[in-house]
Amino acid sequence: MKWLEKKSIPFEDLWEKAVDFHGHEGPYLVAGLRMGVYILQALSSRGYSDLKLIVESPPFTPYTCVLDGLQVSTGCTFGKGNIVLVPSISKDIRVLAICGGKRVFLTLPSDIQEKFREWTDETSVEEAAQRAMELGEGIFSLEAC
Ligand SMILES: [Zn+2]
Repeated sequence: MKWLEKKSIPFEDLWEKAVDFHGHEGPYLVAGLRMGVYILQALSSRGYSDLKLIVESPPFTPYTCVLDGLQVSTGCTFGKGNIVLVPSISKDIRVLAICGGKRVFLTLPSDIQEKFREWTDETSVEEAAQRAMELGEGIFSLEAC
């Protein structure tokens, strides 16, 4: 079987694909994309098939919007079974990514999520997404694993 490879797509193009897939703009979608892009680079992963993501998150929106950003950026999908959601009552969203013998562990901390809420309340979810984009990779934390 021949697999596609995730190539380094400009973030703007990835964002367009993600909004098309997800249906709306939002800071959690941005966070999922940023984490996915980082994961592919950090693990030298080809995406789609050589990667497994385990995501711990409250099992409802807006938290789960992260899942769509991760799917679009990594090619891991619920259909292929290489992304799984572990429902959590903690607001920290944690992502463990495994590629062969390598792994990275990322967190979307609750203090960043608090900013998402403030920005959304003060302006709009679209503006909150723009501000989230300006955080770059500072949107997530890297944990030891
Ligand atoms: Zn959403």
